[in-house]
Amino acid sequence: MRYGMVIDLKRCIGCYGCQLSCKAEHGTPPGVLFARVAKHEFGTYPNTGLVFLPLLCFHCDNAPCVDVCPTGASHYREGGVVDINKDACVGCRACMQACPYGARYYNESQRAYYPGQGLTPYEEVYYSEENSNVVMKCNFCIDRVNAGLQPACVANCACNARTFGDLDDPNSEVAQLIRQRGGEQLQPELGTHPSVYYLPPG
Ligand code: SF4
Repeated sequence: MRYGMVIDLKRCIGCYGCQLSCKAEHGTPPGVLFARVAKHEFGTYPNTGLVFLPLLCFHCDNAPCVDVCPTGASHYREGGVVDINKDACVGCRACMQACPYGARYYNESQRAYYPGQGLTPYEEVYYSEENSNVVMKCNFCIDRVNAGLQPACVANCACNARTFGDLDDPNSEVAQLIRQRGGEQLQPELGTHPSVYYLPPG
């Protein structure tokens, strides 16, 4: 069993539903985006186009962030998910240097969305579960997955651009999409072997 995600660039319309639903699910502070969408313009006027690239932690099979973590806070868990034990993290940020995809964030202190006005009730709930001076990132919503749900970004994608499942099962939807549509990992030459695949926009 190896959890993975397939993102169809032909379906993504850049609505940021994944980004927002991820923030709602994890209650992340300002500037922290476990799921984000990068925009890229191409061509020359008037023959131009726009492509959206949803990004997240790739849950690499050969994760440099796990290799460099001095305390074992960054670790592999069920299904190859790369997660962080926030209580073991000492905030050295070596993992942030090691990750070639910019998937990690340092949470230095509690930061409110409305500075000077205190925490909102929503922030009070989420921030009470967060540690300061630790690194944080996407964990494929593993608690939701273990409860039989889809990751929040998958469940809330209006265009069904995201599919989640077992990469090791040749009959799974993710494995079939990769096979049939030519799914590709980002920068495979780095040898990290990401568990996130992209289907071409064309
Ligand atoms: Fe680690 Fe970055 Fe790979 Fe995620 S994308 S597993 S943070 S190296």
